[in-house]
Amino acid sequence: QGPHATPPGTQPAEPEEAAAPLATLQANRITAWFGDRKVLDRVSLTMPAGQVTSLIGPSGCGKSTFLRILNRMHELVPSATLAGEVLLDGEDIYDPKKKLVEARKHIGMVFQKPNPFPAMSIYDNVIAGLKLTGTKASREQKDYLVETSLAKAGLWKEVKDRLRSPGGGLSGGQQQRLCIARSLAVTPRVLLMDEPCSALDPTSTRVIEETMLELAKEVTIVIVTHNMQQAQRVSQQCAFFLAAHGKPGVIVEHGDTAAMFDSPIDPRTFDYVNGRF
Ligand code: ADP
Ligand code: MG
Repeated sequence: QGPHATPPGTQPAEPEEAAAPLATLQANRITAWFGDRKVLDRVSLTMPAGQVTSLIGPSGCGKSTFLRILNRMHELVPSATLAGEVLLDGEDIYDPKKKLVEARKHIGMVFQKPNPFPAMSIYDNVIAGLKLTGTKASREQKDYLVETSLAKAGLWKEVKDRLRSPGGGLSGGQQQRLCIARSLAVTPRVLLMDEPCSALDPTSTRVIEETMLELAKEVTIVIVTHNMQQAQRVSQQCAFFLAAHGKPGVIVEHGDTAAMFDSPIDPRTFDYVNGRF
């Protein structure tokens, strides 16, 4: 793995609002099944604190499944089973003593299709996660959280005069940033993003990429993307997933993004990053 390029976030925080420390997420020997079909086979990956990690690879190779396992969403599918472990700064997120909401509160998720609550106000969308995690907050704390979360998501200036209007009235790119703000409001230590820009126009995509680069200073980010330029623009580390002919998905190669694109070790990686399949 390359050297840490990004220093930890150093903005002068409100004293009582100390940011959650940067965390490393580590997946060890993850094997996943749907029914008796194995879709991932002993996948291990360390997603270092303060970095953006891109998961790339053809459709169906298990990237979304892997991402959902990092957030304990896989277990919501009745036929799904799992082996291996996921450690957040060394702590097992699958520890049976841990409540699901407790484990998940630190690991936010943003999906391909922006999914704000359309009829709910922008303000209430941002703080929707507080209820789920049982976090109590005063009116002032909520105001502060809404402003800082929207600012981090790069949306504050655009919406500060219309916080009471419905989230569904925003453009696609704005809705996606609203979803990012909603994730950030529960101060996650990791943000998982499953093709967050593939439903968006290039301008919105660039805005979100800039937001991610800024966010990476305080949140560890894992992004699934089919956009090779995007992987190179936003991530320091890349993992190439592949599922050969009905076999379960594996990581063929991972490491420094620039190195993987300039001089991939595996010929299959070379073909993929050069658009050959
Ligand atoms: P990717 O995100 O790389 O396109 P996925 O993780 O979505 O891949 O899918 C990996 C494999 O698991 C695919 O073969 C897919 O059909 C299968 N799969 C995904 N979700 C489910 C599910 N809920 N039930 C059964 N099979 C699934
Ligand atoms: Mg997917």
